[in-house]
Amino acid sequence: MSNKYVIMIHGGAGNIKEMDDEKKAKYHKSLEIILKKSSQILQEGASSLEAVTLAVKLLEDDELYNAGKGSVLNHKGEFSMDASIMDGKNLMSGAVAGISKIKNPVMLAKKVLEESEHVMLISNEAMDFAKQFDLEAKENSYFETEYRRKQFEEALKSNKVVLDHSSFDKKGIQGDEKKYGTVGAVAVDKDGNIAAATSTGGIVNKKFGRVGDSPIVGSGVYADNETAAVSSTGYGEQFIRTVIAKHLADLIAMKGLNLVDAMNESIEYLTKKVSGLGGMISVTKDYKYASNYNTPGMIHGVASSEGGINTSLEKPLNA
Ligand code: ASP
Repeated sequence: MSNKYVIMIHGGAGNIKEMDDEKKAKYHKSLEIILKKSSQILQEGASSLEAVTLAVKLLEDDELYNAGKGSVLNHKGEFSMDASIMDGKNLMSGAVAGISKIKNPVMLAKKVLEESEHVMLISNEAMDFAKQFDLEAKENSYFETEYRRKQFEEALKSNKVVLDHSSFDKKGIQGDEKKYGTVGAVAVDKDGNIAAATSTGGIVNKKFGRVGDSPIVGSGVYADNETAAVSSTGYGEQFIRTVIAKHLADLIAMKGLNLVDAMNESIEYLTKKVSGLGGMISVTKDYKYASNYNTPGMIHGVASSEGGINTSLEKPLNA
């Protein structure tokens, strides 16, 4: 056991450059508070699994992000949230997709990891599974915000499925709107165990039970003590097709890359292979951390025993 720990969190990749200073300050403040609380429990000896759960729960509770309260609306004007969590010690994973009315989807994903023999539960049956636990339930009105309702109505009008990041399309950044969202956390605890968790409302105006990468092991989330813990944010379909989180881990395992090089090479692969848009955060068991993205920014930050708290919207963080 050492006295070291690292926790890194994100609140979505996107067109940060267009955000006004007041909003930027809000994000910095929010990230700082959440990093403070989640690193505090790591410092007191909590596991990385507990720390990423707490961090993602707090991100879900903050309506600034597209996860839990503040989630985007699907084509029916309803909430359909996805979340996942993975323990790098033993590759145990839990995920839920297409759920609503559960205040903290990440806590249900953790129950799937701990209390079921399965990895992923979906929709109404996942919510039935939730009933046996003491998880807080909420009505739709709790999740809804005026901003998301407006965003949804605009998407409906233009008949578009919109990523909750920024109004970019496959050709690049379009620019005028400012949408950010999906949340995630990766951590390494004093025992050198790593974990990752991701949570999202998905993409605005999504149809037909669409599920993105966030609950998919190897794409939106991954953790293996031997390689890295990863949480992704971006256009989910592209992250699923490239199995991007596992891709990063494989670059470490098979090519012997260090974390920063593996992170940079993965973002390059995402860009070249499928014109993918988004970013990732990652830690390893030897207390290294790295982030990168190919959007103009990613809302993220890190807290570590060595370096304190550092939040960033516009530059990758690594050490
Ligand atoms: N990856 C999420 C999804 O496709 C969206 C996001 O990161 O904002 O559902």
